[in-house]
Order: sequence, then structure tokens, then C-alpha cells
Amino acid sequence: MKIAVLGTGYVGLSTGVCLSEIGHHVYCIDINEQKINNLRNGISPIYEPGLESLLASNMTAQRLQFTTSLEEGLNDAEIIIIAVGTPQGDDGAADLSYLEQAAKDISKYVAASSIIVIKSTVPVGTNEYIQTIIEAECGFPVQMVSNPEFLRQGSAVQDTMKPDRIILGSNDKTAAEKIREMYLPLNAPIILADIRSAEMIKYASNAFLATKISYINEIANLCEVVGANVEDVANGVGKDKRIGEAFLQAGIGYGGSCFPKDVKALLHTASLYQVDFSMLKETIAINDNQQKLLVKKAVKRFGDLQGKKIAMLGLSFKPETDDMREAPSIKIAHSLTQMGAEVVAYDPVAINNAKQVLGDIITYASSVYDAISQADALMIVTEWKEFTQLDFASLVKKMNHPIIFDGRNCLEEEQLKACGNVEYYSIGRPVII
Ligand code: NAD
Repeated sequence: MKIAVLGTGYVGLSTGVCLSEIGHHVYCIDINEQKINNLRNGISPIYEPGLESLLASNMTAQRLQFTTSLEEGLNDAEIIIIAVGTPQGDDGAADLSYLEQAAKDISKYVAASSIIVIKSTVPVGTNEYIQTIIEAECGFPVQMVSNPEFLRQGSAVQDTMKPDRIILGSNDKTAAEKIREMYLPLNAPIILADIRSAEMIKYASNAFLATKISYINEIANLCEVVGANVEDVANGVGKDKRIGEAFLQAGIGYGGSCFPKDVKALLHTASLYQVDFSMLKETIAINDNQQKLLVKKAVKRFGDLQGKKIAMLGLSFKPETDDMREAPSIKIAHSLTQMGAEVVAYDPVAINNAKQVLGDIITYASSVYDAISQADALMIVTEWKEFTQLDFASLVKKMNHPIIFDGRNCLEEEQLKACGNVEYYSIGRPVII
């Protein structure tokens, strides 16, 4: 099939590349010329494991092209997939301006037979709203399919090639059937729904996962005061099939480009209909509190952070991505520096993006060893696998004080015991001194 994808971000690029991998002819379109120029040279604008090699092989096979021109990209497109950003607006609602602009832009080139698929995360009613924009501009009826995306950054290729399920929402059976055909080579379960239910499925999923995180974090906070260990608790709880083990890792809360904004957008939708979704308000409040925990623990330990050198390991909002959107490291870096601490941070891939967000309020190290040298404390903020495999026994010898605040519970007791007289504070687990 001939497919056009608007937006070459984490979702659009992964989708475009994977659709070409299963044999479709894909044109990826973006308004950002630099991204498109890089992509034409086989350079991915994002860090995503496995993406760049698929990019290269499908470009070579001439199934994948890139352009900033809608006229070129939409020419002959049977399916137009919109995957532009829907960031959080000032009032908590999803900002639909990129989507509205994309709708106006494509209506100049859309054909009556093409199917428009919205993959961006959008509030209930948005597909119908975008349809009215396009039809008003192009002057004929168009077919819409809501196809929310569930990929996780860091495993976007794998998630796109092997999704748990594909949701297709449409009021037009033929349009949904065509998109089902597009996905057939993936051999994935496909769930058909009406267009509004499809839109709601995405928010209900993300809000549930965020709530699961806040729930285990509250249990962790309780574990700390009653003397239990949240790791053992989560293990015991998660083995119950009705609950499941995923998303029961206590820590310094969720961040990223989806959970924070999607939970707030769902809350905003509820408020528009005078529904008091109080559980979501608590999910957000718990998460805000959780992101402050490492700094609180450091203040409790040191009293005053003025002049203290803190090594920060991890900047991205989660491992295996360079994405800094809503990363807990941002708030932590601001709090520490406002209290007079000097922060030296290391991240395997997110430093360039972090510099755009944090500028020079912190220093960026080129290795864990550089970051940790002469530090008064170490804070683990992102659980990159390589951090868990470090030789902490020799690392802590480089510090002024062997004090570790682990925001992701990624170190084990045996590792720490091998370090000698280390002080270790984590989330919902006993302090080790
Ligand atoms: P992103 O910010 O990484 O990428 C968006 C891209 O769209 C940018 O490259 C931008 O230049 C481009 N763009 C903006 N307006 C355009 C236009 N008119 N024409 C062509 N391109 C245009 O965003 P993302 O993280 O890929 O998210 C996209 C959508 O998918 C959002 O709605 C998000 O909520 C949703 N989503 C994201 C994830 C994720 O993990 N990132 C997962 C599931 C769903």
C-alpha cells in the first residue's frame, strides 16, 4: 500500500519505518527540514534501539522516503497517518494546534478515496472535529480511522512490530477494514471499536498505568515507615495474575511525553463534562510528591546542600531514550541547584537534549567516573542498565562521601555490601548503612 505519515517524531518515524519493513511504500513528511535532511542521509533524529538499521535497509529497498513537501508525500497516498505532537496546553487540555494545522495542510492534497488515520493521542471527539476541518477545506467527504499508538520509547521498534493489540476506531467499516489489511502482516490482535471508544481506550490505558505507578509509590512510602520492603511486597502482589507484575516498580515517579500530559488531558475531558475524576487528581499529586523524594532525603541526610557536589546518573525520563520531556531529572536538578548544590550529571544518550532544557545550571560529565569524582553524594535518577552493572565498590572510593540516593531501586544489597561503608537510601526499601 502507499502510505504517507505526517510527523517523524518517536511515533511517526517508528510507524513509517516499520510499515515499510512489512512491505508498504511509505513517505514520511515533517515540517522540520533538518530532521528530513538527516533522515534522507540515514540519520535518525531520535535515539531508538534498532531504528536506524531498519531505516537504512528500507531506504535501500526504496520503500521509505522523506520529504517536507505535502504535495510530493501525499501524491497517490491511499492512507494518510497523522502522528504529530499533541502536547499539554496551558489549561491541561491537549493542544491540538499541530493537528489542526496538519488537517488544513493535507486537505489541499487529499483524494476522496484516501483514508485519514489519527495516531496522535487525542481527546474524545477529536477525530470527528478534524474530519469537519478537512471536509470544510477540501469540499468532499473523507473517511477517518482512529488508531491510537501504544509503543513505548526505548522499545518502539519492537512494540510496533509486535503490538499487544491494534485499536481501530471508525464509523466507516470499509475504512477500518482497509487499515486492518495494512496491519495484517504484523499478525497482531486487532480490536475494532467506534471512533470515540478508540480515542478513550488510549487515555484509559495511560491513566491506568500512571495510577498503578502512583499506587505502588504510595505503598513504597508506607513500607518505609512501617519497616517493610516494597520490592518484596510488589513481587508478592504482582504474582497475582489479576494484578500483574508490570508497572509495580516503586521509584521517583513517572515522566515522559505521555503519562503526565495524558493524565491531565483526561482529567480536563472529565471536567468538561462535570465529572469529578478525583482518583486521577491523586495520581498526579502522588507523582509530584514522588519526584521530590530524592531531594528531601538528601536534605534530611545533609541538613544543608549548599556547596555539596551531587553526581546525578541519568537524565532522560527513562532508560533507552534520549527524551527529556517531563523527566524527573529536570525538577531534581532545579531543586538541588536552587539549594546551592553543584550538580554533575551523566547520561549515555540524553546529554544533548538535556542541555536544551537545563542549560548551564548543571555540569555535564563524559563518563560515570567523571561525574562521581569527589562527589558528596550520588543520585540515580534513570535506571540505565549500564548503571546497575557498574563496579560500585571502586566507584564509591572516588567520592568524598560514599552516599547513594537511588531513585529507581536499581542496586541490590549484595552489591552495596561489597562496597564497604556505603550509605544507601532508596524508595520503599530499608536504608543500608
Ligand atoms: P514528537 O514531538 O516526537 O514528534 C512530532 C513530529 O511532528 C515532529 O517531528 C514535528 O516536527 C512534526 N510535525 C508537527 N506539525 C507537523 C505538520 N503539520 N506536518 C508534518 N509534521 C509535523 O511527538 P511523538 O512523541 O512522536 O508523539 C506524537 C503523538 O503520538 C502525540 O500525540 C503523542 O501523545 C502520541 N504518542 C506518543 C508516544 C511516545 O512514546 N512518544 C506513544 C504513544 C502515543
